[in-house]
Amino acid sequence: MIKVAGYCRVSTDKEDQANSFASQQRYFQEYIAQNPNWELYEIYADEGTSGTSTRKRVQFNRMIQDAREGKFQLILTKEVSRFSRNIVDTLSYTRELKRIGVAVEFVTDHINTMDSDGELRLSIMATIAQDESRKTSNRVVWGQTRQMEKGVVFGRSLLGYDVKNGKLSIEPEGAKIVRQIFQKYAVEQVGTAEIACFLNREGHRTYHGSKWKSGAIIKILKNEKYVGDLVQKKTYTPDYLTHEKCTNKGQVPQIRIENHHEPIISREIWNMAQKRMAQNNKHGAGDCGHSNRYVFSGKIKCALCGASFVGRIKKLKDGTKVRRWSCGTAVNEGTDGCDIGKLVRDDDAMNMLKLAVRSLSLDVKPIIVNITALALDAIQAGESGVTDAPEQLRFELDRLQHKKEAVIDHYFSGDISKEDMLAMKKRYEDQERSFRERLEKAEVKQQQGSDTAQLKQAIQAEVTDLLNFQVESEVLSKTLLNSLTVFQDKHMELRLNDLPMVFRFAE
Ligand SMILES: [Zn+2]
Repeated sequence: MIKVAGYCRVSTDKEDQANSFASQQRYFQEYIAQNPNWELYEIYADEGTSGTSTRKRVQFNRMIQDAREGKFQLILTKEVSRFSRNIVDTLSYTRELKRIGVAVEFVTDHINTMDSDGELRLSIMATIAQDESRKTSNRVVWGQTRQMEKGVVFGRSLLGYDVKNGKLSIEPEGAKIVRQIFQKYAVEQVGTAEIACFLNREGHRTYHGSKWKSGAIIKILKNEKYVGDLVQKKTYTPDYLTHEKCTNKGQVPQIRIENHHEPIISREIWNMAQKRMAQNNKHGAGDCGHSNRYVFSGKIKCALCGASFVGRIKKLKDGTKVRRWSCGTAVNEGTDGCDIGKLVRDDDAMNMLKLAVRSLSLDVKPIIVNITALALDAIQAGESGVTDAPEQLRFELDRLQHKKEAVIDHYFSGDISKEDMLAMKKRYEDQERSFRERLEKAEVKQQQGSDTAQLKQAIQAEVTDLLNFQVESEVLSKTLLNSLTVFQDKHMELRLNDLPMVFRFAE
């Protein structure tokens, strides 16, 4: 008998019967009953139906611990996207479990980690899901970008400015400190640490209530809001699965609007401060770009001497450029080198990789479904809040307009006094203003909603193309390719990650 554990996420929402504990329990019991060699050990259930929405996964951790202690040999779970916090975690758990002889079966996805290509399918999913969520976050940013172009401020209040309804207004007390900082730094040439000491001595605290330090002073000096400019998207989230923020260095569009709002300091002083900072600070801020190494870097091996092949750009007669790989020891000048003498063109190597992957005839459907779910899940985890329906608000605005006109008619026909007319008109106008504000918010939200539906389609189409190798993905290729070994008789052997088989290519 094989002892089997079940893992699920249960909904605490009474409306959501499909994800209740009772229903999930029934599901696993029925599934296990189909196999006479299986025996239910325990069903582990955590609250929360979304993969990313749950921080505490007490039962999940307990299950992993029990698995390590050998209490069962198989874990059943419905979908890849619901197993762990993110797909990268999932992959590391399934690998660890596999090593200790515990299989994981994702029932609706038809993936079992003990199957020959189970791991491979999971790692493809992991790679693309990460890449997709990065791209998707860029697309989401795109929607916000249009709002930003209109000058709507996405951000919080800061020292010297209050942000309310997407607008900045000067807060006098804070503005005074900001002016002092710029004055001391740009005009009096005082150092940032000294300015911090001064402010602390005077009993001032930062906007967040902590003591002033050099770094906080620099932040103020770098903030272009103080000169009246608005730059948005200084950071972005390249990977919605890990939610890490990166400095935007042009990866996503940055919006800059000059003289957007009332400045606290003059442009002259701002420029002086920037100049001084540039002189003092030669090293740049942290970056987190993606590695630009080529797919085949370090992956093509020489069977004769064991070295890695090195890529060189070669211009062909017709003017096109190709990257050609040759044995690393052979191209190093001053060494005897190896005489394998074989050149591998980048596009040929890529074709071999494609052929190998296509020959697997992977069941890509569940992969696509999961990646889409993962990418969307990760984005939506950050959004919440209910807003009005825009149609309703437009209707209300229309009605107010009619009411306003009617009031004036009544006044002219002598039904009401001028005072009454003005009072009523003002009331309607106040209502109108508040409705307009709500409508603006609702429209943004509605736009995001329809963006999500479009996103889903876009992701599905993109992932389908990727998996069929209609478009080449550097990330996916790197995940898939283990090595390409070149032999002296010119035949080559390609290996994929997580798979035992060898693909042989003759010259
Ligand atoms: Zn060699």
